[in-house]
Amino acid sequence: MTKIIPDSHVAILNIKACLGCGRCIDKCPMEAIPHNLIGLFSHLLEIDKSKCTGCGECISFCPHKAIKLVRLT
Ligand code: SF4
Ligand code: SF4
Repeated sequence: MTKIIPDSHVAILNIKACLGCGRCIDKCPMEAIPHNLIGLFSHLLEIDKSKCTGCGECISFCPHKAIKLVRLT
């Protein structure tokens, strides 16, 4: 298993796979996933890359596998 080094990765949300359930939002310790878009505007949900530390917490809570980590270059 690849070891994730914090701040070397950032989370990316695949909006086509996301159903806007909101389960990931409260799991983010950095508040990088906005609350205000759940519901009517969930199709605009996006992770704030300036806040995301790439910890990966949100990924395990997404039932639709809509979030992945990508390495920062
Ligand atoms: S990887 Fe960590 S910091 Fe980034 S959005 Fe997910 S829970 Fe928040
Ligand atoms: S847990 Fe997954 S499906 Fe639910 S809002 Fe977050 S990214 Fe979208």
